[in-house]
Amino acid sequence: MLYTITKEVIHLATQTITVRNKLIVKENYQHESIDSTLRQFAWACNQMLTVAKAENCWSANKLQKLTYYDIRAVTDLKANHICNAVRRVVNAKSSTGKVKEFKATSVALDIRTFIYKDGSVGITLVDKRHWFEWKLSYEQKKLLEGKHNRFATLSRTRSGQYFLNVAVEIDCDKRHVSNTKAIGVDLGRRSIAATSTGKSWDGEQLNKTRDRYAKVRANVQSKRSRSGRRLLRRLSGRERRFQQWVNHNISKSIVSTAKKDCAIISMENLTNIRQSLNAKPRNKQERRRTNNWSFYQLRLFVQYKANIAGIPIVFVPPAYTSQICSHCNHIHPDPTKSFRNNKRFVCGYCGADCDADYNAARNIAAYGVTINSPEAPKLSCGLAPQFVLGAKLHPQPSGGVG
Ligand SMILES: [Zn+2]
Repeated sequence: MLYTITKEVIHLATQTITVRNKLIVKENYQHESIDSTLRQFAWACNQMLTVAKAENCWSANKLQKLTYYDIRAVTDLKANHICNAVRRVVNAKSSTGKVKEFKATSVALDIRTFIYKDGSVGITLVDKRHWFEWKLSYEQKKLLEGKHNRFATLSRTRSGQYFLNVAVEIDCDKRHVSNTKAIGVDLGRRSIAATSTGKSWDGEQLNKTRDRYAKVRANVQSKRSRSGRRLLRRLSGRERRFQQWVNHNISKSIVSTAKKDCAIISMENLTNIRQSLNAKPRNKQERRRTNNWSFYQLRLFVQYKANIAGIPIVFVPPAYTSQICSHCNHIHPDPTKSFRNNKRFVCGYCGADCDADYNAARNIAAYGVTINSPEAPKLSCGLAPQFVLGAKLHPQPSGGVG
């Protein structure tokens, strides 16, 4: 089995993150203004889409020239709404490839149609500029202040609430990191995350909370009442926020450790495993690790926080990271000699006996260093010199990956 390593070190100048919160809409006429704007914006997008398809024209400038005056003439949309509608149509085409129809659920705003000032926002709707209360957390306020908030989206949820998302661009730090030091992060085996620095976050508390929610959900679902449905919605929101909070804390801690140690961060490339291994039978745990959005979210959080802090991230192939001994770099051919048993990893060669997640995280770290600095000594096993991690791997005697 030959292995190719993809170098995926990300260095960004800026990182975009989204500040999202509920918009407080008190007056009825404001509801009407927003809804009317959403409807007309979607209508404009759909008209443009028809023209773009007919003329096969997907350039923003040309499409705007073709449609601008006609749409302005028949709608109440402002000039900037129409520019944003053009942008939305062109972007939708370039990002998804195929666009069917735009629904009246959101409107794109820019620096001329959206303004943030001391806890409230001014939004230009079809009739005029309206001011709304927008309650933000301290952290969110800090993100918005003194920034050019160039793009925002006003959206309406199915339950009729309004949300405002503002894209904030943050300058990334330019940090000097050692290229022989990496912090390996192993996700979602026994614990939610474990690092090569010996930190780990137990999944037990999280699972307990999840089970509790699942129980309440099953209970409510059996009753099928209207208030029950409302409760379900609230529960799923609360569960999601809890999950998000956990992921924020873990990612914050990982990135701050990397900052302190001037190290890069090394993680498993789970996106590839999803594509390449989907055809093969996998065990339940492996499926959970690759298809679970909460791990995806955790990776995303680590990634954007690392970007802002100027810490490169490398993604390594996930195969064998839990079977190799991180002390002697060997996989024992006899699976009964080297093994992992729940939380424990035991090496049949050097007799290392340690926490299994910690062992995997150390392998991921070592792997990350070899990717980040090709001049570093290759990871190799002293007992079997032909075995070089990252070059050629022994065929597995017992099969199984992860
Ligand atoms: Zn060993």
